[in-house]
Amino acid sequence: MTSTHAFWLAGRQATGEDSFDVTNPWDGRLVGTVSVPTDAQVEEAVAAAYAVREEFAATPAHVRAAALDHVVRRLTERTEEIAQLISAENGKPIKWARGEVGRAVSVFRFAAEEARRFNGGDAQRLDTDAGGTGRLALTRRFPRGPVLGIAPFNFPLNLSAHKVAPALAVGAPIILKPAPATPVSSLILGELLAETDLPAGSWSVLTVPNDKMPALVQDERLPVISFTGSGPVGYAIMESVPRKHCTLELGGNGAAVVLGDWSSEEDLEWAATRIATFSNYQGGQSCISVQRVIVDATVHDRLVPKIVAAVEALVTGDPSDAATDVGPLVSEDAARRVESWVDEAVAAGATLLTGGKRDGATYAPTVLADLPDTTTIACEEVFGPVLSIRKTHGEAEAFAAVNDSRYGLQAGVFTHDLQTAFRAHRALEVGGVVIGDVPSYRADQMPYGGAKESGVGREGVRYAMDDYTYERVLVLTGL
Ligand code: NAD
Repeated sequence: MTSTHAFWLAGRQATGEDSFDVTNPWDGRLVGTVSVPTDAQVEEAVAAAYAVREEFAATPAHVRAAALDHVVRRLTERTEEIAQLISAENGKPIKWARGEVGRAVSVFRFAAEEARRFNGGDAQRLDTDAGGTGRLALTRRFPRGPVLGIAPFNFPLNLSAHKVAPALAVGAPIILKPAPATPVSSLILGELLAETDLPAGSWSVLTVPNDKMPALVQDERLPVISFTGSGPVGYAIMESVPRKHCTLELGGNGAAVVLGDWSSEEDLEWAATRIATFSNYQGGQSCISVQRVIVDATVHDRLVPKIVAAVEALVTGDPSDAATDVGPLVSEDAARRVESWVDEAVAAGATLLTGGKRDGATYAPTVLADLPDTTTIACEEVFGPVLSIRKTHGEAEAFAAVNDSRYGLQAGVFTHDLQTAFRAHRALEVGGVVIGDVPSYRADQMPYGGAKESGVGREGVRYAMDDYTYERVLVLTGL
């Protein structure tokens, strides 16, 4: 699987002077060597994106939609190969990597569909006011300009798709910057885009090192920044370019609430299985992973053993094995960080119900109880396979516990009660509330993003298309 990967500069392959290696976190194997663009090549890509912006915005919708349809077909055909690459570069179990390619297919399909119906426009009569007699306002949305899309390592293909597909759907040029640990799948996406008729300059995939990113972020020819990653990096970007249009998709410490009415054996088995699976499915490296389980006292003692059993039933191991549920974290450093946070929690009085062991880059699925509020895990996004269980009494206390966080991405509430569902929707300070399931549920067409320190703005294909464009009014006079 080893190969050298060129980057994509204004729709064509190019190589620079430097390169870096991408290794498999499971066994240290070389996945690929990736070329790094020179400053002059980055400049060329930005200049090309800027130069093509008007031509691209004027491209007929059917042309853009056809290009997106092409990516849908080719991603579908190449699913297995691309899934293997994602699994190798990220350490993600192969079954989840296949799922990720399937989601990226959906993102491009939604974008093709939306490209066909976007911007139907709206007409508003202005003669409801005397000064508007004989006038009509038409509105259309136009791209704000070229987009800089910055992607994280944890869903390297799908979160790149969430930047690229909506931009192409609205006719906004995009420069995609993948994460350094996982650039290969984004570079393969470039192969599929290169097979389309999209104008040269309308897209680039640039493997720019982090220390060169501030210059790109500052570039005035890129007025839109769509960032997915950690809070400190995201907020530093936004603060460095206060006049740009920034979307920040940041971290979370997702809570699953199990209320007292969720009490049959079947209910509790479902909740336990979903909680165990989605606190670990990415090694916990998902922004909507289940990190906190808030359980009503009336079901607590029945649910906790089921969660522990479901966590212990997960198969940890080689991500290329179809039976594996939990692979390594993205690096041994990441696993060491999680280990130190769990050790700190246990030393502070938390009870370790299972897990708590590290082997290289792999951290065992871990369940904690009695977690003191002051511990790092209680306050931060753990981004590892660790969940903590807290007992609460009644709905109000449970909802307050969810909100007792500086994050607010999504929350899951296990209840059968419709009134409770509406109260949860009203009370929880998050971007999305999922009833009857974990916070980790995401459909790629729905609005997705954070409240509080989990981010600014929304993704989800149609919402990103709105974000990349602005409304411009045309006033007609003399009608
Ligand atoms: P990260 O912040 O380390 O990196 C994200 C991206 O930013 C990478 O491409 C990185 O190379 C780039 N980057 C780093 N320094 C930069 C700089 N100075 N200027 C510009 N770009 C720079 O995050 P990560 O470790 O790749 O991803 C994990 C984080 O992402 C977690 O916090 C997770 O919760 C979050 N995340 C959020 C969502 C969401 O939709 N809300 C989805 C996935 C991941």
